[in-house]
Amino acid sequence: MARSSANGASSNVAKETLAYCTSCKMDLNHVVVAMKGDRIAKVQCLTCKKEHVYKTPKGVTEPTKAKATRKKKESAAEATATSIEAEWEKLMASHRDAPMKSYTTKGVFVLGDKIKHPTFGEGIVGRLIYPNKIEVIFRTDLKILIYGGQPQQ
Ligand SMILES: [Zn+2]
Repeated sequence: MARSSANGASSNVAKETLAYCTSCKMDLNHVVVAMKGDRIAKVQCLTCKKEHVYKTPKGVTEPTKAKATRKKKESAAEATATSIEAEWEKLMASHRDAPMKSYTTKGVFVLGDKIKHPTFGEGIVGRLIYPNKIEVIFRTDLKILIYGGQPQQ
């Protein structure tokens, strides 16, 4: 392999070492990919096969901590979804009489426009982001979409 001849001068390259994997979120066996002087610079995880900067082992061998964090994030996302839906319902009600526009990337939209998106459904333009993006509140999520820009005034 080209790698072994290119790094042949560094004696530790291709050796196995215990390191903290930034993808697996725990200490795992890694293969040394690159050295910087006499320090390990880059490693490849033997579990997920990803190459990343060498991190010293953290003594974390079970992914319990990562699991707990993920669970917390999920419930936070749920709470956000609920408040977005409430907001969406309120906005749809207050813009009941506004015409529904079909979303296209070249469309011209203003604040409060009702938009019909082929994937996300019906939404309301909640924010204009200069020069060509809009933040649209859909029933389940906020989306940043590209549009044709603000109308000339
Ligand atoms: Zn890994």
